Amino acid sequence: MAKISIDLKKGSIHKEAPKEHIIGIDLGTTNSLVAYVEDNQAYTIADSCGKSALIPSVVYFDHNDEPHVGTEAKDKLITQASRTIYSVKRLLGKSYQDLNEVQSHLGYQIIDQDEDQLVKIRVGDKFYSPIELSALILKKLKEMAERHFATSVSKAVITIPAYFNDSQRQATRDAGKLAGLDVLRIVNEPTAASLAYGIGTSREDAEVIVVYDLGGGTFDISILKIEDGIFEVLATNGDTFLGGDDIDRAILEHWIKKYHITNLNDNKSMVQRIRLLAETAKKSLSIHQYFESDDGQFQLTRTELNQLIAPLWQKTLSLTKACLEDSGLQLDDIDQVILVGGSTRTPYIKERVAEFFQLTPNDTLDPDQVVALGAAIQADILAGNRKDMLLLDVTPLSLGIETIGGLMDTIIPRNTKIPARAGRQYTTSVDGQTNLKVSVYQGERDLVSDNRKLGSFVLSGIPPMATGLPKIEIQFILDADGILRVKAMELRSGIETEVEIKSQYGITEEEMAHMLLSSIQNAQSDMDTRALIEAQTEAKNILVHSEKFLLQNASIFDTETQEQLRTHMKALEVAIASADKDLINTKMEHLNAFSAPLAQIAMDYNIAKALKGKSI
Ligand code: ADP
Ligand code: MG
Repeated sequence: MAKISIDLKKGSIHKEAPKEHIIGIDLGTTNSLVAYVEDNQAYTIADSCGKSALIPSVVYFDHNDEPHVGTEAKDKLITQASRTIYSVKRLLGKSYQDLNEVQSHLGYQIIDQDEDQLVKIRVGDKFYSPIELSALILKKLKEMAERHFATSVSKAVITIPAYFNDSQRQATRDAGKLAGLDVLRIVNEPTAASLAYGIGTSREDAEVIVVYDLGGGTFDISILKIEDGIFEVLATNGDTFLGGDDIDRAILEHWIKKYHITNLNDNKSMVQRIRLLAETAKKSLSIHQYFESDDGQFQLTRTELNQLIAPLWQKTLSLTKACLEDSGLQLDDIDQVILVGGSTRTPYIKERVAEFFQLTPNDTLDPDQVVALGAAIQADILAGNRKDMLLLDVTPLSLGIETIGGLMDTIIPRNTKIPARAGRQYTTSVDGQTNLKVSVYQGERDLVSDNRKLGSFVLSGIPPMATGLPKIEIQFILDADGILRVKAMELRSGIETEVEIKSQYGITEEEMAHMLLSSIQNAQSDMDTRALIEAQTEAKNILVHSEKFLLQNASIFDTETQEQLRTHMKALEVAIASADKDLINTKMEHLNAFSAPLAQIAMDYNIAKALKGKSI
């Protein structure tokens, strides 16, 4: 974790190494992974057994309601179906109404809670939101990373499908927060996959990339245009119930027919066992031509499998064609094809994709790891370790300024590709106004008080003019690093001001330190106020005593000495009124320095007088 120290004297903040690890997370429907970058190379992190980086996105609640995540949970899918939650990603950010069609596909119980309309899942007598369940998976990945680095990890980049709407994106972010992660960025899965292949990491000519992602239960097809380091999703399509699971089911049905298996209706666990065997056969046939189960009971050839896959391929093909049409591009506009998702290991799929696009697809990286690797690269860019690379993004929230009545006036709308620049003209609201305060906000709400304040500054020196005459141009310049510069210019007079505002997502340690610093600075000013009041009080006391002294000893001192004393007293009076603590103290010292010898003289005189009056 980066340490931040505050220099109280200078009021500045120092950031110290050791460098913090920012992890990349692929939160998948079927499997999730965590990855990181070291010396420009991306790696995934394996589970504690060191066997696999793929963590099944499954949560099992034991009878004490303790959650178990990953392989141990997947093992319970058959025996503990009602306490084992899978495919939770399909439910993220969804209301019950969205889910009517989904319910029948899932082996656990979904309920709707009237208050928030967001889906909850029932396990025994407990209810869990998809955000909580996703957080459990994220926590597991976080812990894997922490074990790997032997240090705590708090920052992450998480990927999501390109089609995810705002509510789904927000839900993903919330799940991260709940898992104790500061989610620095949410990245589209196809963008991450392209990054993993190093596409778009340098300023080259525009490229058009197709990302064909066939996972366990979902199919996503995306067409991206990458230019100047900016990733633009031209079109996206898919089917949220199409994937490797369908192949497993097709194999299962094929075997049931082939081997005349009956009485399966009352034997659910038998079905599940054959289904798992079907998956094993499918995976094996990605390398071999022939599969036979250990007991010799089930056999499958590559040719048979290909026939079973063909209808699924046809479905993905028509979705791909629709996506291509939406993008307005032709087949020969496509420069590269990337294969993502475990199911693209199937040779049949690979061949058909190559055939359709007339291109050899990128498949040198593990298709089930490529998204996580890309997320790690994005994390590395955010960590500032890749100066050669651009930060490639759209701005996730609108940026604007506060106008009369506390209203948000958006200058750069959300989802604008960055870098971006936009400006707008304003004028004054009061006659002769010479200063204009510009407050910058981020967010989608109409009232700035509901949005996040990024900073403010004052454009000063506007020549006094009648209301509405000054032409004040406010310009927002958002660079590829997400850093916002705001310029304010009065066009008639040419005066201008420019400030840099760092737009960050969530509260970072640095921001926290800034808040701390400002409270410390306020503490300082509180202390100053108190010191002033104390000095004023002391000075007033001295004046009262001096006045008394003069009155009592008027006969001792000549008028000149008395005048000089009065001058010092007058100066102290002025200092008290000035509310300048240092001036008060100085004048107090002067008065004391002048009056101390007088007091001595007066004392000696009075003692002598007293002695004189006494007869010994
Ligand atoms: P998701 O993105 O939905 O989390 P993954 O990308 O991890 O899913 O893909 C999981 C799917 O990939 C499963 O259906 C699994 O059976 C399939 N799969 C994994 N390895 C292979 C393989 N070698 N051959 C064919 N399919 C595979
Ligand atoms: Mg995936």
